[in-house]
Amino acid sequence: MKNFNVASIYLFHTCNYNCSYCTAAQSIDNRLGRFSRAVTEEGMEKIIKFFNERGQWHILYAGGEPTIHPHFIELTKKLSQNHYIRMATNNSMNDEKLQQFVKEIDPMRFDYIQCSLQEKDEEKKRLFKFVERAKILKENGFKVFVTYVAVPTRLELVKKYYELFMENGIPFVIQPFRGKFNGLIYPDAYTCEEREFLDKYMISAMYRSLLETSDRKPFGKDCNAGYKRVYIDGISGKVYKCLLEVTNDLGNIYENNINLSEKPEKCKAKTCTCIFEPHLEIEELLYKDLDKILKCEVHYDKYIFDEYKNKSLEIQQFSDYWKRRQREILQKIFKDASGKVIGIYGSGKHTEKIFEVYKEVFGQVDFQLVFFDSDKTKWNKQYLNSKILDPKSIPSLNLDRIIISSHRFQEEIYKSLKQYEDIGVKIMKIYDKQDTIIFI
Ligand code: SF4
Ligand code: SF4
Repeated sequence: MKNFNVASIYLFHTCNYNCSYCTAAQSIDNRLGRFSRAVTEEGMEKIIKFFNERGQWHILYAGGEPTIHPHFIELTKKLSQNHYIRMATNNSMNDEKLQQFVKEIDPMRFDYIQCSLQEKDEEKKRLFKFVERAKILKENGFKVFVTYVAVPTRLELVKKYYELFMENGIPFVIQPFRGKFNGLIYPDAYTCEEREFLDKYMISAMYRSLLETSDRKPFGKDCNAGYKRVYIDGISGKVYKCLLEVTNDLGNIYENNINLSEKPEKCKAKTCTCIFEPHLEIEELLYKDLDKILKCEVHYDKYIFDEYKNKSLEIQQFSDYWKRRQREILQKIFKDASGKVIGIYGSGKHTEKIFEVYKEVFGQVDFQLVFFDSDKTKWNKQYLNSKILDPKSIPSLNLDRIIISSHRFQEEIYKSLKQYEDIGVKIMKIYDKQDTIIFI
């Protein structure tokens, strides 16, 4: 794969599936029709112009589900004339669209197609169709591999699927599950037996390494993000360094501007979960691993596994730094909170991490907590020994302060809460503008 710039473009957050374990679930909107500017004629023209005026790119479609873009083939055809496309898809194109795709798109302009096998397609007849679609792509010259998230309840199916796909010459890549399941945090919660079992069927050294380390700790290491690689939000058009550096944008694809750095920069993130966006030390390993996957090798490469793992570990001095930063922030936001009613806006992983660290550092809370979320489906549900409420109830709650528990949406949430300062509620932000996410 040639050394051009790489752009991951999240075209929209809409998906035609609704997987229970979807890590993007908070932002996924399953109502079809809720697309972005990236599907309009004007938006597509701007996207094509943006890339065409800046040399050659490897463009990774992500989302949401890219193939449900109403003009998916037209956009792909135009972009692939000058650039190389990569795609993460749930492999759900219908027969007609798939036939049109293989007929009209040059497979030589596609780096790879990652087809994720989702729970919906595990039903016998659907699985058969899923395999058929992957085979059609492969037979037409596309480099295809299938990924499967090893959610604890799906483990027993791993062997069956490994055999099914590998027998058909389609690489089957197991991805460790990341997240909470039955109160346990994965991948840390996989037992030794489960790890040994998964090990037998893993063909990606990178994912095997992530099964051990959970994520990478690149803080302080050089990274191409912002220099030769960017992440683009197709909704706003904003261009960022990477998925985790979204406070300062580098430009806007719809305004046709971008300001890349002149050399690799040091990563400022505590943890990196961007699979195809690694720091420089492991970038080559990632591509070596991908080559081996695409060759359908039956087991992962031990050398790549060791190297990837060792180069993903945290440098001790930085681990101490993050602990110190977390402690300082907790002291600031919970100062003089004892006995008061404290609101927390946000009821996701970020909030859970805050209270996990709080417990480790200070023990149990000695103030009353209430949680708020804009997601109606969460209202009145139990959460961290309290309840999640409709933000409209704020004036009736005698709150001392509301802490905004979000990195990405902090400013947006602040704007919606600012009105409550007039009734004496302090609205507290956790992050300064240049801060990277700390509770992760
Ligand atoms: S197909 Fe992918 S993006 Fe869509 S809901 Fe499932 S996991 Fe999420
Ligand atoms: S978070 Fe990941 S992609 Fe972003 S700068 Fe750090 S290593 Fe690079």
